[in-house]
Amino acid sequence: MTELPDVVLVTGASRGIGRAIAVAAARKGVRVVIDYAGNAEAAAETVALVEAAGGEAIAVAADVGVEAEVAALFAAVDGFGRLVGVVNNAGVVDVAARLDEMSTARIERMFRINVFGTMMVAREAVRRMSTRHGGRGGAIVNVSSISARLGSAGQYVDYAAAKAAVDTFTIGLAREVASEGIRVNAVRPGIVDTEIHASGGQPDRATALADQIPMKRAGRAEEIAAAVVWLLSDAASYTTGAILDVSGGR
Ligand code: NAP
Repeated sequence: MTELPDVVLVTGASRGIGRAIAVAAARKGVRVVIDYAGNAEAAAETVALVEAAGGEAIAVAADVGVEAEVAALFAAVDGFGRLVGVVNNAGVVDVAARLDEMSTARIERMFRINVFGTMMVAREAVRRMSTRHGGRGGAIVNVSSISARLGSAGQYVDYAAAKAAVDTFTIGLAREVASEGIRVNAVRPGIVDTEIHASGGQPDRATALADQIPMKRAGRAEEIAAAVVWLLSDAASYTTGAILDVSGGR
């Protein structure tokens, strides 16, 4: 029987950090599934960048916070090859607000996408990669945020709390599946220059806050991608349940 090609799924890979992860993973020789929410044009650009780097990719629109869409996403993954890695990168912030100004709908969306999405995607990955289910193992990397450590008071405590849930989920799942061939780790970026800040109403946040960062600059998406791809790789074969800050010292 012909071996299926190895596939890595990167959620939220149409732009920003996810795009950089998709390209860096493709350079390692795996096929990449590029999940995105709605920006088909940007996702197509990521596919083109992967192909320009000598790789192969498909783009699939799926909201990670909607179970049926996660199921459809994994059907596409299964059609593209054998899953060996998943990066839970899709994530959202909201405009700066205090808790006493936040609607319940906002808090629910924050957790639906950032936490439930991460957990549903990881669950589907475990069902495919765990030796308990006949799989051959693999790696999961969750993209958290140093806000999980800082709390983001007056900015978005909902986002910070959701990312803290991702951290604890990473530790627990890592121990749960450690003997089943799956490693689970998290990367906590500091401030990275992407479009996420515009979606939070602060397009200049990355440059405006540079002075508060010990390295005095925002990070680049490629610098986060390098850490993620290392954690996906066999070079990190004894690393699981780790939470790696990539934050310029912040
Ligand atoms: P970004 O530039 O805003 O890109 C977000 C990506 O996620 C896009 O590809 C978007 O797709 C996708 N997405 C949004 N909601 C989704 C959903 N419900 N289902 C599937 N995909 C969805 O964000 P980024 O700055 O690259 O952030 C990536 C990750 O890093 C996030 O988890 C974020 O919390 C984390 N992070 C970022 C920073 C930072 O400073 N940038 C710092 C710490 C942590 P569309 O293009 O289709 O909208």
